[in-house]
Amino acid sequence: MSSSTRPERVLSARVNTFGQYLLRRYGQRVHKLALNAGFTCPNRDGTKGIGGCTFCNNVSFGPNAQRPPEIDPQLDAGRQVLAKRTGARRFMAYFQTYTNTYAEIAVLRARYEAALIHPDVVGLSVGTRPDCVSEAVLDLLANYRARGKEVWLELGLQSADDQTLARINRGHGFAEYRTAVTAAHRRGIPVCTHLIIGLPGEGREAALNTLDRVLELGVEGLKLHPLHVVKHTRLAIDWQQGAYQPLTLEDYVGICADLIERTPANVLYHRLTGTASPEILLAPEWCSRKWAVLNAIEAELFRRHTRQGARCAVPLNYKLINSA
Ligand code: SF4
Repeated sequence: MSSSTRPERVLSARVNTFGQYLLRRYGQRVHKLALNAGFTCPNRDGTKGIGGCTFCNNVSFGPNAQRPPEIDPQLDAGRQVLAKRTGARRFMAYFQTYTNTYAEIAVLRARYEAALIHPDVVGLSVGTRPDCVSEAVLDLLANYRARGKEVWLELGLQSADDQTLARINRGHGFAEYRTAVTAAHRRGIPVCTHLIIGLPGEGREAALNTLDRVLELGVEGLKLHPLHVVKHTRLAIDWQQGAYQPLTLEDYVGICADLIERTPANVLYHRLTGTASPEILLAPEWCSRKWAVLNAIEAELFRRHTRQGARCAVPLNYKLINSA
């Protein structure tokens, strides 16, 4: 497929993507480079819970999940792969695996700065849980931002419904999310919120309700992800017993289009779908076909003659930290 016909390019005409934002800001393609900094998760080590969220399997974080935590070799390997695949020469260090604010501040500083020291790394995206965001780590991130680095806090909320969060054994509620977002915004740190579509007991209405609550608080970025069933999880047992039914591709695409239409045009979509490795993915099968899903979302937006923000109920003066 030639670059001019890449689905990502087509989608970006109707959706304000993080990739396009980085291109505008840095004048060249900047790609996220996923890192495993060797942290764990309080929902697995017993601090909040044992066993983790019902859908979570470490391997579903991607190939970096099993790598040793040294940052340099991961950056070197990732840079080569991404440069070959996408042509990108500059990168966002994406601390993705487990909970990347869950350590002593000195350890966090050492890991983050091992990435930031590289001249081709423009900044950090730090993925974490809303209940693991201390004042100290926010001060650290705000300091990098004050030094001109691109800094994003990625919060896994998944749903704004506390009953759903309890059902998936998340170990936190919406209140912790509200506290974390407020504290990040007080320091000028942009937030990208992760939402999962198709959680047990949830459909279109629940997804819209979650989006409304997230937008009410204010958010700079969003990631949408279909719930996929992977091996060795509680969710896999539920699915095998018929207690959980994944969304169809058509349902997922329709809900995504609804959410996109209701999202202010200046919020950045960091992701519109997600995949799991074929070795562990059980269902739904379509989750493994990323571009088919993205093309279907684009086709649905085209069919509706619509785009991001077309049905946005949020006032036009919706303020974002990273407007570009
Ligand atoms: S918070 Fe993240 S790493 Fe921890 S159990 Fe849940 S999905 Fe897994």
